[in-house]
Amino acid sequence: MTNNSASTPKLIDRFGRQVTYVRLSVTDRCDLRCVYCMSDDMQFLPRAQLLTLEEINRIGKAFVDLGVNKIRVTGGEPLTRRSILTVFKSLGQLNGLDDLTITTNGTLLEKYAQPLKDAGVTRINISLDTLKAERFKKITRIGKLDKTLKGIDAALNAGFQRIKLNTVIMKNHNDDEIMDLINFVREHDMDISFIEEMPLGIMADDSDRVATYYSSDQILADINKHHELISTTEKTGGPANYYRFKDSNSRIGFISPHSHNFCDTCNRVRVTSEGMLLLCLGQEHSIDLRHIVRAHPTDDAILRQAIIDSMQLKPEGHDFNLNEQPIIMRHMSSTGG
Ligand code: SAM
Ligand code: SF4
Repeated sequence: MTNNSASTPKLIDRFGRQVTYVRLSVTDRCDLRCVYCMSDDMQFLPRAQLLTLEEINRIGKAFVDLGVNKIRVTGGEPLTRRSILTVFKSLGQLNGLDDLTITTNGTLLEKYAQPLKDAGVTRINISLDTLKAERFKKITRIGKLDKTLKGIDAALNAGFQRIKLNTVIMKNHNDDEIMDLINFVREHDMDISFIEEMPLGIMADDSDRVATYYSSDQILADINKHHELISTTEKTGGPANYYRFKDSNSRIGFISPHSHNFCDTCNRVRVTSEGMLLLCLGQEHSIDLRHIVRAHPTDDAILRQAIIDSMQLKPEGHDFNLNEQPIIMRHMSSTGG
């Protein structure tokens, strides 16, 4: 479904890129503590600093009025936010929004998969880095693999258009499971995206992002030993490049911020759970939407104009460099991955 406002693009940045995709983070909290995402002593935001659910809906609607046709709800773990279904129900009714998606660690999907589908969620990304229970506990610091696997089952039964696993491969941690994960998605008719770890936030002393770096090209080479893959031009609105198998519906995506920079086709912005509109994942350029919605509680025209004006701030690209200290101090969980 396309609305009138979508036919006249309003969100165009200085480099001619049109923003059609927004990631809304609804919380910085999580029931897991993945080693690449959070430090072991995270401080979470006081609840009063979070956007209210009504404010999240208002901001989502403003973006759709400006031509955005895809919204991904993320976090932190979005399903840990109380009454979060009301946000999905409200966004799911927006005229002009073609794709309402969520990224989740899956732990609460047993309860939420069907209600999310009923609210209008089209596709779902579930993060899973290992199929081994001990290792899952180590990577997530506190998690139980079984809960996420049950969540995946519930999502499969709920009948989403597509389910995709998001997997961060780390050398000497889980690179030996690439083929097991491939077999798992093939068996269950799911897709998988492999994500190169991004240097966001200062991590635990014993984490070493250079030593654990495992490139998309290396993963591709590993899979190619077992399967002939066909490169495609398919996109799902995000940064992944996709490959297909000859004998399966499953797709393999690669999100490669280090080895294959995707900034020139960037079509997205992020809103953090406290309402900062981030124009780039890897830079600090931002504007404070919470201040605007609270200062103008009934005037959406001012909110829309602020979003249009923010396009002038969108930087050309990120400057991720694994060999230097991160220049972005916020963790992925506060950024909204
Ligand atoms: N809690 C949800 C989940 O894990 O799916 C949603 C939020 S999480 C921040 C979104 C995605 O970001 C996950 O797939 C996770 O693997 C990924 N992620 C977190 N930290 C990352 C990092 N430093 N580099 C690359 N991906 C990261
Ligand atoms: Fe939580 Fe997702 Fe970050 Fe893991 S990646 S700690 S599940 S927000």
